[in-house]
Amino acid sequence: MPKTRAVLCKPPSAIDAAWKRTFRRRLLTWYSQHARDLPWRRSRDPYQVWVSEIMLQQTQVVTVVDYFQRFIAAFPTVAALAQAPVEQVLRLWEGLGYYRRARQMHRAAEEIVRDHGGAFPEDIATVRRLPGIGRYTAGAILSIAFDQSQPILEANTVRLFSRLLAYQGDPLKAEGQRLLWSLAEDLVAGRDAGALNQALMELGSTLCTPRNPQCDRCPVASLCRTRELGLQEQIPLLRARPKPEDVQEAAVVVFRRGKILLQRRGNEGRWAGLWDFPRFVLASHDGAALVRELRDHVERLTGVVATPGERLTTIRHGVTRFRITLHCHRAEYVSTSTQHRSLTELRWIKPVDLAEYPLSVTGRKLGHLVIHGLKSPGNRKQALLPNSQVRRR
Ligand code: SF4
Repeated sequence: MPKTRAVLCKPPSAIDAAWKRTFRRRLLTWYSQHARDLPWRRSRDPYQVWVSEIMLQQTQVVTVVDYFQRFIAAFPTVAALAQAPVEQVLRLWEGLGYYRRARQMHRAAEEIVRDHGGAFPEDIATVRRLPGIGRYTAGAILSIAFDQSQPILEANTVRLFSRLLAYQGDPLKAEGQRLLWSLAEDLVAGRDAGALNQALMELGSTLCTPRNPQCDRCPVASLCRTRELGLQEQIPLLRARPKPEDVQEAAVVVFRRGKILLQRRGNEGRWAGLWDFPRFVLASHDGAALVRELRDHVERLTGVVATPGERLTTIRHGVTRFRITLHCHRAEYVSTSTQHRSLTELRWIKPVDLAEYPLSVTGRKLGHLVIHGLKSPGNRKQALLPNSQVRRR
């Protein structure tokens, strides 16, 4: 493959009508023959398109399929979503991450019911005012559901368009964004806007992949400047990833007469709105300092005074650029603090009732361990609870 060399990218205005016609025809023909059968493609209901588009942000198609089907079965309409308690919505979202998306969808559903009689709006300005819906999502919903000629630009099409134009600048900076949105507008003008936008994303995610794009199978290969120049590995320009940062955290399971303490997380941050065991960043690793720190943090966060006990397990996981080591401890309730009050809602619940509460993935793992016990070195289970409180599934 030739080395990178300076290439002047063609602005979209230089893409002439014949190029555009050929591109659209080849792409749509290819899509009609190769589109994956995905559950959200079986309907043009704007609600279902919306749910799928929100779920697909930051999440892979294979992961989304099951979540989408469960979500639509539980909330088949905008009205059903609006009427559901937000906790039920978060419970069904559990494991997908970026929980803000679910809470914003719930708020948007309430607005659609209140202000639009439950019918998904068809006007781009109105759609973009709904919580959690940006330019890309609005364009995707309106083009796919209503065949409006609205452009889209997301990760797959950023890569595809950059390569078609051999654009060597940063596609996420203002100049790159202007150029690529302009190409998206140019391409979608005309009929079959919904199919065209879906075909663009399909080509980007299945053939024009970040590494080793399958140019020999690409329906628009002869129209692609990057292929002509042999720069597939250099385009699009990738930003350096920030270095991962190691963080030590603790989660504490506080027991009181067979019940455990849960705290609802605030409205900001990674797991906003979910329930959790008291969790915090940890400075100490062992000894008296660790015990003091666990006790003080639990009291400050919840207003509960508890005596820290054994370490139950350690869970390693990643969130964005953080590599987190989560030290999970148990603690026994002593009293309720007279100095601190919890700033968020608290509940003492039976461990078997954890299934009702939306938790983060690590919270669910820890909850599972509380219910089903630890595996000892001899591989025998070591129960944390009396048998009477363990509900086997
Ligand atoms: S020819 Fe290759 S690089 Fe160009 S659009 Fe097709 S798959 Fe992508």
